[in-house]
Amino acid sequence: MSEFGVYVHIPFCRHRCDYCAFATWTDRDHLMVEYVDAVVLDIQRSVAAGMPVADTVFFGGGTPTRLAPELVTKIVAAIPMSPDAEVTVECNPDDVTPDLMKVYAAGGVNRVSIGVQAMVGHVLASLGRTHDPSNVEKAVHAAREAGITSINLDLIYGVHGESLEDWQSTLTAAIALAPTHVSAYGLTVEAGTPLADDPARHPDDDDQADKYIMTDDMLGAAGMHNYEISNWAFGGHECRHNKVYWSQGNYKGFGCASHSHQDGRRFWNVRTPDRYIACVNEGISVEAADEVLDEETRAREALELSLRTADGVPVGALDVASLEGLVSVQGNRVVLTRNGKLLANEVSLRLKPR
Ligand code: SF4
Repeated sequence: MSEFGVYVHIPFCRHRCDYCAFATWTDRDHLMVEYVDAVVLDIQRSVAAGMPVADTVFFGGGTPTRLAPELVTKIVAAIPMSPDAEVTVECNPDDVTPDLMKVYAAGGVNRVSIGVQAMVGHVLASLGRTHDPSNVEKAVHAAREAGITSINLDLIYGVHGESLEDWQSTLTAAIALAPTHVSAYGLTVEAGTPLADDPARHPDDDDQADKYIMTDDMLGAAGMHNYEISNWAFGGHECRHNKVYWSQGNYKGFGCASHSHQDGRRFWNVRTPDRYIACVNEGISVEAADEVLDEETRAREALELSLRTADGVPVGALDVASLEGLVSVQGNRVVLTRNGKLLANEVSLRLKPR
């Protein structure tokens, strides 16, 4: 039985990165207090309607650290959770101060995910990011000083102008900070973003493959294990919230544009913060739409998601012959080979459940 997760979307950013398609706004800061009040009220109503106690809570965005830290912990306090719940906040290193981390820690936050992206100045500039790489080190120290020792560093590779040596420098600097967890994703081109309109800056598949291999080699040598295609952790520090998603567990999203899942029904909230606040205050549903997955779709998704993890899937769950070179059998499990991880989309296309 999977754990129950709560996701809270914070849709405020200082500026819009040109590769980003998330539901986030740069001109809505005046709504922050009202927004947090609406999220708290929405949570209270869900609790009254029987929402389970949360095992994992994740604040994402947007930029949760754009909020005064007391507003974040006000939301944390409204969520009933199990005593050992994992409570993560995504942090922009530029916003982090020792005081912010102290407020988080006192308010129950026990894990931070720091948006590093890269540790090389010209690569950050190419991403349209403004932070100074040295702020990452300060943010990690501030978290540890406050007693938050579960630390993820979020990295992006394959940015235009990033050499293999640049990526190696980012990995070396990230490892030197001794995080407990690293997420590393290849840059993807999202429709409707300025990056999508500029093909000269689009990532190259071979370059991304080389960087993926380097990532797995270096993080592996540092003692972290690749427990999902894009995620590495020291034992015991795997992200429980991610595992809720990957195991098709139930989760409830709060805030605008957040998604929820309950027993095969997926639903998502109205997209803008203005609309979300209005719905909550008027006492009408914040749900924008839903989809109900049939058994076959659920079973196929379960296979795809499990296969992306180090646990793989049981032997016999799929036709191994159709995935030659992309999967290997280890004991009674089928897992992706490194080639399979590099070609995960191809694996999904060829997947033949039994
Ligand atoms: S900070 Fe994150 S959420 Fe905000 S615009 Fe940049 S990538 Fe998107």
